[in-house]
Amino acid sequence: MTMVFCRGCAKEIHESAPLCPQCGASQPTNISLQQKKESPSGVAITALMLTCLSFLACLVSEGDKDSLFGVAAFAITGAILGGINLQQRRSGKTIAIVSVVLACITLLLSLGQIS
Ligand SMILES: [Zn+2]
Repeated sequence: MTMVFCRGCAKEIHESAPLCPQCGASQPTNISLQQKKESPSGVAITALMLTCLSFLACLVSEGDKDSLFGVAAFAITGAILGGINLQQRRSGKTIAIVSVVLACITLLLSLGQIS
């Protein structure tokens, strides 16, 4: 059983108490803090969606140069978004790393098919 201090009146209260019994101030519970940490940012999700789309497009493009350049452009955009997400230390770090790695693989695959 851990005690924390109230944000409103600085009295000791139980850490899971959503409200202070002394002054009624709402407390940041551990559960809501964890949820904030775990939900990935929109940038990370967009990056992953872009790289997934480009990876799939790369697999079905069958060496068509125009579509491969499009694939590469998508992958680069996804990698940049993932990089921005990592640099700004937003949530969804794992997703951002996955999208950057996937973007690199897609780039290598599409460039290999172009040349
Ligand atoms: Zn209080």
